[in-house]
Amino acid sequence: MMQAKVSFHKKLKVLLTHLHGDHVLGLPGVLQTMALMDRKEPVQVYGPPGIKDFLVCTKETLNFGLTFPVEINEIISEGTILNEEEYSLVAAKSSHEVQSYAYALIEKRRPGKFYPKKAEALGIPLGELWSKLQDGKEITLHDGRVIKPSDVMGPRRAGRKIVYTGDTRPFDGFAKFAADADLIIHESTFDDSLAEKAALDGHSTPSQAAEEAQAAGAKKLVLTHISARYADAGLLLEQAKKIFADTIVAEDFMNIELPLKGS
Ligand SMILES: [Zn+2]
Ligand SMILES: [Zn+2]
Repeated sequence: MMQAKVSFHKKLKVLLTHLHGDHVLGLPGVLQTMALMDRKEPVQVYGPPGIKDFLVCTKETLNFGLTFPVEINEIISEGTILNEEEYSLVAAKSSHEVQSYAYALIEKRRPGKFYPKKAEALGIPLGELWSKLQDGKEITLHDGRVIKPSDVMGPRRAGRKIVYTGDTRPFDGFAKFAADADLIIHESTFDDSLAEKAALDGHSTPSQAAEEAQAAGAKKLVLTHISARYADAGLLLEQAKKIFADTIVAEDFMNIELPLKGS
């Protein structure tokens, strides 16, 4: 976070897919560092049952205090776990060695494009009234005319959707869960020649990840959680690209921009 220059004070929700060391052991350290930075804003943590015990035990054993509240939400069943004004978070049970969830961040529909020329032509004074229209509210002008947002704005625009699988084998219902995603971040631990091992250990191969992305009608696929046995992920990338062309391999500090739709 320091190297990426992400503030320790910003709004933060942590989604844990499952209770394996490589997915949870970093969290106590992050929380402790945030306390050293005197964070005050709460942190929400979501994950399968057991995360509460894990965090409480670590905190007690290591005997560290926090300067901010940690709200722990254990997810009992799949479905919508959070509904914010701008987005929702949905969890789906995935298929790993232990109970595990995949997550979808679904942005809500955004207001349509605003046309300043139309507003000027209708004689709406620049300022507060423009903002109200942009917020989707009707306004009344001094001469009594009522202006609707649709008079100066285009149709509402679709939001974006990002899906993160966590560790998993391919599982029933994933394509529907990830339908039309702008981005799927899919684990791809072993290459295609180790498909049997992948199935046994609760992981996926590049071809499986690519098939899921294709079935979901996704726009872009990022492979992650590559086994340390591969010094270079080129082979895995090649295998996925044969099925789903728009695939890349995740790297630390990678930034991916997902364009707004209909703008
Ligand atoms: Zn795991
Ligand atoms: Zn893992």
